[in-house]
Amino acid sequence: MSLTAKEVLRMVKEQQVEFVDLKFIDLPGLWQHMTIPAEALTEESFTEGIGFDGSSIRGFKSIHESDMILIPDPSTAVIDPFCEIPTLSLICNVFDPVKKGPYERDPRYIAQKAEAYLKSTGIADVSYWGPEAEFFILDDIRFDQNQHCGYYFIDSIEGFWNSGREENPNLGYKPRYKEGYFPVPPTDNYQNLRSEMVMTMQRCGIVVECHHHEVATAGQAEIDMRFAPLTQMADQLMLFKYIVKNVARRHGKTVTFMPKPIFQDNGSGMHVHQSLWKEGKPLFFDPNGYAQLSELALYYIGGLLKHGPALAAFCSPTTNSYKRLVPGFEAPVYLAYSQRNRSAAVRIPMYSNSPNAKRIEYRPPDPSCNPYLAFAALLLAGIDGIKNKIHPGEPLEKDIYELSPEELAALPALPGSLEEALKALEADHDFLLAGGVFTEDLLQAWVDYKRGEVDAIRLRPHPYEFALYFDI
Ligand code: GLN
Ligand code: MG
Ligand code: MG
Ligand code: MG
Repeated sequence: MSLTAKEVLRMVKEQQVEFVDLKFIDLPGLWQHMTIPAEALTEESFTEGIGFDGSSIRGFKSIHESDMILIPDPSTAVIDPFCEIPTLSLICNVFDPVKKGPYERDPRYIAQKAEAYLKSTGIADVSYWGPEAEFFILDDIRFDQNQHCGYYFIDSIEGFWNSGREENPNLGYKPRYKEGYFPVPPTDNYQNLRSEMVMTMQRCGIVVECHHHEVATAGQAEIDMRFAPLTQMADQLMLFKYIVKNVARRHGKTVTFMPKPIFQDNGSGMHVHQSLWKEGKPLFFDPNGYAQLSELALYYIGGLLKHGPALAAFCSPTTNSYKRLVPGFEAPVYLAYSQRNRSAAVRIPMYSNSPNAKRIEYRPPDPSCNPYLAFAALLLAGIDGIKNKIHPGEPLEKDIYELSPEELAALPALPGSLEEALKALEADHDFLLAGGVFTEDLLQAWVDYKRGEVDAIRLRPHPYEFALYFDI
């Protein structure tokens, strides 16, 4: 909708809004919020901001520097679709009252800096982003995170015949493993639920292109939004997840965006379509290039592939991400590019011959990432490729899963674990510091936070270790 501060204040009056909900993004990428009465929102709120205690926010600073300010962005105004009392929702930037400027660990600020940096290079004036976030709709999940072995149980996990749907009697028509894509109902049990999610998104101003069941059996779904500029798309993705989770909850279902919740079935990826434009013209198209790609697009790909291991620390940022990035489940493993090959990290979609539709699809990311940081990092890798003319080499047209061991060994691969990805980021991050977009402080905070997750998993006995070793 893109309103100004004045328009937002008018909307508050006209729509009899009672509360204003201020949302911001923590370091791992979840929305946090605080609500104020509608009359407390004034024109100054959009310049002076609203104070809050930032001391317990994940990844933000410690107690002694805890006073923070939220500056709402009027262009993000939307009536919250789930509040029973009329509530206006605003996404905010975080400000540091001591420095009197943007807080350097605010992920949204990093995304905005990445967009400004792109412009300053003169390469392009806008980047467009189209993430395809996949997720699971589940009937039930039980876990106890305080258990020493942290066991969890999803009702649908045991056997495809029980796939995500408890029915008594069992009426059949359940998708088999890896066959969820995409028979009609009654096999597809979530048509209405996905449609309701999409209608809620549309009411909030998100343009949706399609929704469908995904490959995995237990109610895996995908909803695709129309492309948008970087920060706007990251904002939309936060709203997208919020809507998906809350619509599911209204129907007694739960949703997870974790990348690999179910052993031996497809995981949830978030392929990210990207393109650069200048003065209203697409920069990735050349009718004579490989897959109709311009040289600039090839260099952009070269940057993504070169920095692929370091990018994984932001694009596949959970220990669970690496359970998805294995052969056999349409997820990429190797850092290669191809026109049609879905096992390559970069795919060039060939649906259309239109210059405007020319884009590249980066497949390693998953929806556990913080989209502000992941998109910014991807853009910086692409810019680095363009600036340094990093050619991505020959495309890979064979099915990577069918290459010989020797051929495979010659291909650069994505990291095999979060720890490997963090090490790759430590070794290769100068491209992220370009233009002051990422800072050493933010990178260190990220690595420390994520190493905490690596340790949390490393220190706990895994349930399957009991199967392997209990009787040793
Ligand atoms: N779920 C697959 C992944 O993990 C993608 C499946 C698809 O969209 N073709 O990336
Ligand atoms: Mg898709
Ligand atoms: Mg998909
Ligand atoms: Mg895709």
